[in-house]
Amino acid sequence: MSQIQDSLKPIVALCKRRGFVYPGSEIYGGFANTYSFGPYGVELKRNIKDLWWKMFVHERRDMVGLDGPILLHPKAWKASGHVDGFSDALIDCKACKSRFRCDHLIEETLHQNADDLTLVQMTDLVHQNKVKCPKCGASDFTEARHFNLMFQTHMSKTGADGDVAYLRPETAQAIFLDYKNIVDTVRVKLPFGVAQIGKAFRNEITPGNFVFRVIEFEQMEIEYFTREAAWEKTFDSWLQEMHRWCKRIGLKSARVHEKEHPKEQLSHYSKRTVDLVYDFPFGTSELYGLAYRTDFDLSRHAECSGQTIDYTDPETREKFIPHVIEPTFGVERTLLALLCDAYEEEKLENGEMRTVLHFAPCIAPVKVAVFPLMKKEPLAEKAQAVFATLQALWHCEYDESGAIGKRYRRQDELGTPFCITIDFDTLENDTVTLRDRDSMKQERVAIRDLVSHLAPKLH
Ligand code: ATP
Repeated sequence: MSQIQDSLKPIVALCKRRGFVYPGSEIYGGFANTYSFGPYGVELKRNIKDLWWKMFVHERRDMVGLDGPILLHPKAWKASGHVDGFSDALIDCKACKSRFRCDHLIEETLHQNADDLTLVQMTDLVHQNKVKCPKCGASDFTEARHFNLMFQTHMSKTGADGDVAYLRPETAQAIFLDYKNIVDTVRVKLPFGVAQIGKAFRNEITPGNFVFRVIEFEQMEIEYFTREAAWEKTFDSWLQEMHRWCKRIGLKSARVHEKEHPKEQLSHYSKRTVDLVYDFPFGTSELYGLAYRTDFDLSRHAECSGQTIDYTDPETREKFIPHVIEPTFGVERTLLALLCDAYEEEKLENGEMRTVLHFAPCIAPVKVAVFPLMKKEPLAEKAQAVFATLQALWHCEYDESGAIGKRYRRQDELGTPFCITIDFDTLENDTVTLRDRDSMKQERVAIRDLVSHLAPKLH
């Protein structure tokens, strides 16, 4: 594990140093696998979510949005199969009490895929091969057992203690529960999709790799409803859309790959799943997923709620339950992939090193930073006027303290595409120095041309 974390260390350090991501509850010694997104992390996340909404809801005519509750009726989780089936196999080291996901332990120590093994088969493999605990080295494991990943809480609405409610482990189910409301209240016609962004919670057995696997995270999910006969075509077109998204946020295409799930490893609801995996520094791992959920969820909710959840064809009046293609995107994994993709320790011609995040402008937390060469007037007043103009259009930052070189370096580490310096020439001819983050080239641009000059580069 520490080796895995080592490959991420420079990025984790930058995230802390520059206010992207802090460990959760740090002043109390930390609270494992929780994180706060600092002033730049929150901007990055907002840019990801806003762009996703724009691309998948506003730029299409076949999509609508939803913001459903985190707490759904407990019967919904029974119907969806999560109460009985949303679990991982867990195994404990009796010597040091460390807990592991049994399939991961087998994969890491015996280099064998354990996805379709039963609990008994996994236990036998671990015991017979005398697998050593990666933490303490002892070969003394318990039996493998199921561990449900849903967090439970209790409601006392009826006055009776012990009414269990679950924090949602995926946002999808809220969409299925409101499918009927959407069909009845807004003019949607098959094929159409519903998008939702929101928190999901999973009591992961072995979280880790920074924000890659956390217990509280955000999902951006689409449930796309279509006719059964069209599922393959729809699946392929969403796969292309997911690649288009990766390009749009600036991920290097060579680092994004498709991974088809073998039939025997599919989730209980899926007939086909393809993951988009990304080459993270700690290995190639799932970034997003695309699943053909058939009519499983809507049929189960119809059955368990006793409600009719049919779609009526407007022309033929035929009634049926639509099938579903689900593209799902994790916000934190997107953020981590963007950071890994953008991060560079660059050796400059003069031998110095600079750390830079090469974010695509649409994703960058700050678009433009404005500096007066010195704090004193009339430079500061001029710089503030430039800042006010640009701030109305983009998220900008004003920085007047320290040497100009240091201010550039700080913005490089934040991934700010452009810096503007107001200097003594500005007072003479109303031009500023515009510095490009990636090439570090500087050019003089007239203040009156700044907006038209920057706009095409930032959009
Ligand atoms: P994994 O196999 O890595 O556990 P999964 O297949 O269970 O992931 P899904 O159920 O498909 O994941 O969840 C949809 C998306 O939500 C994932 O593609 C990922 O981006 C994100 N995600 C899932 N679990 C976590 C987690 N624990 N922390 C952060 N993001 C997550």
